Amino acid sequence: MGKNIVIIGSTGSIGVSTLEVISNNPGEYNVLGLSCNSNTDLLLKQIKRFNPRFVSVYSPGAKDELEHKLKKTKSSVRVYEGEEGNIAAASDKGADAVVVSVVGGIGLLPTLAAIEKKKKVCLANKETLVCAGDIVMGEAARKKVRIIPIDSEHSAIFQLLEGVKRAEVKRVIITASGGPFRGFSAAALEKVTPEQALKHPNWSMGAKITVDSATLMNKGLEVIEAMKLFGLELDKISVVVHPQSIIHSMIEMNDGSILAQMGYPDMRIPISYALSYPERLAVDYIKPFDFVKAGRLSFEEPDVKKFPCLALAYDAARRGGTMPAVLNAANESAVRDFLAGRIKFTDIPKFIKKAMDNHLKEFVAAPSLEDILAADARARAFSPKTSGRKGV
Ligand code: MG
Repeated sequence: MGKNIVIIGSTGSIGVSTLEVISNNPGEYNVLGLSCNSNTDLLLKQIKRFNPRFVSVYSPGAKDELEHKLKKTKSSVRVYEGEEGNIAAASDKGADAVVVSVVGGIGLLPTLAAIEKKKKVCLANKETLVCAGDIVMGEAARKKVRIIPIDSEHSAIFQLLEGVKRAEVKRVIITASGGPFRGFSAAALEKVTPEQALKHPNWSMGAKITVDSATLMNKGLEVIEAMKLFGLELDKISVVVHPQSIIHSMIEMNDGSILAQMGYPDMRIPISYALSYPERLAVDYIKPFDFVKAGRLSFEEPDVKKFPCLALAYDAARRGGTMPAVLNAANESAVRDFLAGRIKFTDIPKFIKKAMDNHLKEFVAAPSLEDILAADARARAFSPKTSGRKGV
């Protein structure tokens, strides 16, 4: 029969790879529902190929556009829209698992809706755990729902923790590629263009996460994601730069033993682990790993002076409460402004720091979901006058 899968964010990089895993494993999964922001051309192709029962589009106007295109087909797919559409898709009673692969804070409410209805959640959206990790994990525990991470580092840690006693784990070591600007001088970073930032050395990903990898904010968000997902204190997590992206993360045991999860950087591996968990699929489409060809694996300290976003994420993690949501929202705004050519690459951390400083007077230490959504909205509306081609 196969498991019924809903994908929130099916036209993005992870969504497309998830559909590839599904079509490469015939009989294992059915596509029940798909959702996207505004890419109705690709969504239409996915509808024709996978024949879902329902789809949802987020962007205003996209529903009309899609329905117009659907008129020329025989499809009887139901079309939802907006945030409500994502929530309806994520909580459909026919779904066995929901893959949340949208980028940004908009992943939060569909994730909570899926948990509420006791769906297995395959979570690629790290921002959800950064903004509201305590609430999301609390609800998941209450509903006895497993959240299986798709983020490669967290999939690695999840897999490693499956085989050990938690009390025997000393620390978690998250690897970082270092991004395309590792080793750049401060002067060179000032001149970085969106085109340069969008070229990641190892992983092929969407625009937002690729810029986050270049600023190291991605690693900062992943540290907070790991704290929430695995219930870890900040001082139990280390970050090491590993430019080859072969080791996806490690755990150090009390007896000094280090366990690592490895492989070529290929998102189909963590996606298929999340979909099939607690089983593993036997697949033949992943390139066999060649240690000799992989050659040297190297490691270095992350440079938080040149890449202050990582330090800002540590600050937000230490402070907790509403601060990580503000860090995340300000980062989303800053990355959007950088990609639009409105601010410089080096303005991104300055913009975020101002938003975080501005939030101190409104900070809530033990926030409700409403407090988090309000802090997120205020941080998005906050303009620290970083904008302008002249920079700060
Ligand atoms: Mg990652």
